[in-house]
Amino acid sequence: MALLSDVHGNLPAFEAVLEDISEAGVDARWCLGDLVGYGAQPDECVALAAEVCELCLTGNHDLVVLGRIDVNTFSPAAAEAATWTRENINDDSIAYLAALPSEDLDHEIGLYHASPRDPVWEYVLSAVQAEAGMDAMTGRVGAVGHSHVALWFRRSGEGELVSGDTAPDGTELDLSEGDWIVNPGGVGQPRDGDPRAAWLLLELDSWRATWRRVEYPVEEAARAIEAAGLPVMLAERLYVGQ
Ligand code: ZN
Repeated sequence: MALLSDVHGNLPAFEAVLEDISEAGVDARWCLGDLVGYGAQPDECVALAAEVCELCLTGNHDLVVLGRIDVNTFSPAAAEAATWTRENINDDSIAYLAALPSEDLDHEIGLYHASPRDPVWEYVLSAVQAEAGMDAMTGRVGAVGHSHVALWFRRSGEGELVSGDTAPDGTELDLSEGDWIVNPGGVGQPRDGDPRAAWLLLELDSWRATWRRVEYPVEEAARAIEAAGLPVMLAERLYVGQ
């Protein structure tokens, strides 16, 4: 199956990832949240997710747009994009997002937008955060989004230290033993220096995980952001993957 996260209203990136997923012969798509916010095509992205994703979570940006989190918790550019999204999103998109959870524990792996101990807000970027997350997980393998950084953390056995690293394009790992937290990276606003859209191929029968990156027309997403009158830095950061 395919894990993807943080689409953030970036339709060209989402379409490129979905095409790559299809070409890889994968037919299950699980989305870890933040379909909207930052990007200028929220309705298109929500409609596409509703059509092709077997399950989807809500992230902090979705929850701000739904009015469940105060927009003042955001940085100025994120707040401006969230406010624009609230004013422009359609009722169908709101209804779809409103029905989603921020974690889903009913599958072979635990699914959380942000982290196992705080599915909405906590970034998992350090071994200390990953260890706390593993202790909070019910199962052995958890998937998170939120940081927009493709990475993995592993704990081999009882009392072992947690190790981890970023997961550039083509990283392949065997998750069949130990505790793991994996992040597919961001579809619509990667922040690990690689501007290509990210997703994670996870073969649940063999526990093989392969991190993938896909080129997409960044200028189309950037132009949409500029045409919407959103902060220019939200367009510029897409070119550098930050
Ligand atoms: Zn996000």
